[in-house]
Amino acid sequence: MRYWIVGAGPAGCALARVLAESGNADVTVLESRAQVAGNAYDEPDAAGVLVHRYGPHIFHTKDAAAYAFLSRFTDWYPLEHKVLASVHGQLVPVPFNLLSLRMTYAAPRAAEMEKSLTEAFGAGARVSILDLLARTEPELNELAQYVYENVFRFYTLKQWGVAPDALDPAAMARVPVIVGEDCRYFQDPYQGMPADGYTALFERMLDHPRIHVELNRNACERFTLEGSELRLDGDLCREPVIYTGALDELMGYRLGRLPYRTLDFQFETLPVDSYQPVGVVNYTVDEPYTRITEFKKLTGQQLRGVTTIAREYPRACREGDIPYYPIPERESGERYAAYRAQADKCKNLTLLGRLAEYKYYNMDTIIGRALETGRALLGRG
Ligand code: FAD
Ligand code: UDP
Repeated sequence: MRYWIVGAGPAGCALARVLAESGNADVTVLESRAQVAGNAYDEPDAAGVLVHRYGPHIFHTKDAAAYAFLSRFTDWYPLEHKVLASVHGQLVPVPFNLLSLRMTYAAPRAAEMEKSLTEAFGAGARVSILDLLARTEPELNELAQYVYENVFRFYTLKQWGVAPDALDPAAMARVPVIVGEDCRYFQDPYQGMPADGYTALFERMLDHPRIHVELNRNACERFTLEGSELRLDGDLCREPVIYTGALDELMGYRLGRLPYRTLDFQFETLPVDSYQPVGVVNYTVDEPYTRITEFKKLTGQQLRGVTTIAREYPRACREGDIPYYPIPERESGERYAAYRAQADKCKNLTLLGRLAEYKYYNMDTIIGRALETGRALLGRG
């Protein structure tokens, strides 16, 4: 059986490997970029610093199967990612936690707030800012207003173009307030960076005699979806096609464009050992960019006298831009559902991935979904 996969991002690569290893599948992967790994792509820049061209990617998961699958193709650099927020000239841990609280409020008030937080939610709890805002106790209400205003409101406005309450609450819950002193950005049991980078990891994954990759190939120039039928170069295509690109593009934007956020990255190489204390600093109350990433601090790369940083500027995605983020709010979801209802009529088309499913997925969820989709397709084939 031959399978077509559109897109060599984490979803397409993982699925290609699972199908190829079944022994019954030949897989052709079409990728519009000049390289694989999707938005996780990394490469050395002119100064030799390994940078993530499409934004900083840190792997973290609770899913032992997804971690084990990736570990077949990479060793890991053990990173426990830490983020600081720049708030009126002070760098405080994010997720906002008890240490951030003590840096923000003087001792007696901080102690009262800490006591109220612990009584309300329990030691170690992870509380969404939206749940904290709903509390009426004076200490919790004051703290909620402070954190909302100084950590979430402006950053979210920059990132999404709307205030936090216009988004799916799950988006805000990704970065909770922590009733404890754990300063790690993620609490997952498995976290780290692929020792030789993501590009090397995904290249190894695709290195299989039954996987054929074609780069610089926009599949939407070859595949069209007409009614319930997929056409390949104008002819009916009966082979299974797994599409990981943007659904509105595949369907010729017939119901209008799906909204996305895109990012402009400003990379800068500096003649210093170190630029900032941690890999990522979020700018939550000022600056037009959302965050600055210093790549060496994520990858552990040992280079003296030089470092590269990237500032991230989000904005609405227009024609020709990279659609980085599906927007987690109601109206966009409804437009996607209308596209999806039409696409689902085609029985040999499977939609997989952050773009095709229009969901704010992390890499580990994508790997898990690719493994599951592979099993389902093979069961059917
Ligand atoms: P993608 O990586 O987007 O890959 C899709 C691929 O399909 C691309 O290579 C694209 O060129 C190709 N393609 C699209 N359309 C076509 C077409 N018509 N023809 C041919 N090829 C096509 N996740 C984490 O777990 N940790 C993080 O720290 C993290 N940080 C992130 C930071 C940023 C700035 C962004 C944008 C995302 C981040 N993510 C992170 C999420 C992560 O990027 C996604 O979960 C993951 O890339 C999804 O994999 P995918 O294969 O679905 O999509
Ligand atoms: N967020 C925020 N301030 C922060 C960090 C996150 O307001 O300092 C909000 C913002 O809306 C962001 C969301 O929480 O989009 C999720 O953050 P996360 O770091 O998970 O986003 P990612 O960069 O992984 O997409």
